Amino acid sequence: MAASIKPVAGTQFMSSKKPQFLCKLDGHQETVNQAILIGAEDDPAVISISDDKTIRIWSRRDSGQYWPSICHTMPAAASAMDYEHGTRRLFVALDNGTITEFDLSDDLNKITLRRSYIAHQQRVASIKFSLATEWLLSAGKDKYFQWHSTETGRRLGAFQSSSWCTTVEFDAASRHAFVGDYSGNITMLKLTETNYQPVTTLRGHSGSIQTLLWDEKKSLLISGSFDQVIIVWDIGGGKGTAYELCGHKQRVTGLAIFGQKLLSVSEDSTLVVWDMSAKRQGTPEWAERDCCERCARPFFWNVKAMLDQKQVGLRQHHCRRCGRALCDKCSSNRSPLPVLGYEFPVRICDECHLHVSDRDRQSLAEFHDLKTPVAGMSLAPNGVKLMATVGSDRNMKIWDIATVI
Ligand SMILES: [Zn+2]
Ligand SMILES: [Zn+2]
Repeated sequence: MAASIKPVAGTQFMSSKKPQFLCKLDGHQETVNQAILIGAEDDPAVISISDDKTIRIWSRRDSGQYWPSICHTMPAAASAMDYEHGTRRLFVALDNGTITEFDLSDDLNKITLRRSYIAHQQRVASIKFSLATEWLLSAGKDKYFQWHSTETGRRLGAFQSSSWCTTVEFDAASRHAFVGDYSGNITMLKLTETNYQPVTTLRGHSGSIQTLLWDEKKSLLISGSFDQVIIVWDIGGGKGTAYELCGHKQRVTGLAIFGQKLLSVSEDSTLVVWDMSAKRQGTPEWAERDCCERCARPFFWNVKAMLDQKQVGLRQHHCRRCGRALCDKCSSNRSPLPVLGYEFPVRICDECHLHVSDRDRQSLAEFHDLKTPVAGMSLAPNGVKLMATVGSDRNMKIWDIATVI
């Protein structure tokens, strides 16, 4: 593990190594819903889609600025897309529920229609193309998750969720799909050519799932939510373990992996680079008690004890390190607990406070100010150290991230 300068306890660390802002892509008339970096290191390009109904392909000119080589208008707002770098197949989903497949030419100057899929009844929120299976997976506001064969164009199956499907991920090797929804659940399904089997529901978020990322190498599913939390689910480990990463102060909107680093972006304008080689622990279950586990004073709903002890009822709190149910007085200390994923100070009890050393408080992440709320992010393919971010202001930005990963 690389030893770098680590922050002092308690304060979020703004690294001196910054993502370098390269340029802004400005041209869409309405919200940009997604931007994907494509091309080689010396010849990068960007595909973007927007509520203004256009797909734009931006090529980098000699000046370093990006100019559209294609501006293609669709019948409705373009809400989601996926791109297969090797075959240059582009899938664009619309607000009206359809998905269109294009071939992008070698010189990035032309897109050719390949096929259309009448997939959903409402806005498509997320799509994923799997070349290995030739499946196109999609999640929609109509509460359906579906998958189509990209060889025949036929629908292979559909799963109805109890709330909007917001995002989808897929492990092609085991044919497991992960469907995130508006209620904060992630449904795991085993897919076949004709049907699905529900495997499990991953419950842990208290807000809508915004982004999912499948780490094929480690069999980890990583989810980012409107509840500001990232959860890392160990799917392949078989032990059902999960841990949280708490470092954002607003909704988590994008995730990406680069080597041993996890990058996350948020509406709080921050890029967090998490060291995933560090050992982290799952957060403890929170105890539910009628009295403080330390001083035994009753909580406010414990009316009998309140009368017996002639005490005023107290509010129940929880120590983030041991999970005990405690009154405010017995849990008045605050500390970051990076091993448990808490990068900012959280409530801990007096006993745990004695056991947390400065070493335990050392941050396992670095924080970078992007100066603007981020609604989406993608990294360049093939290890090229470029990042594209989508802002809430219709702009896209390109960053050199060589020094932060
Ligand atoms: Zn107490
Ligand atoms: Zn404790």
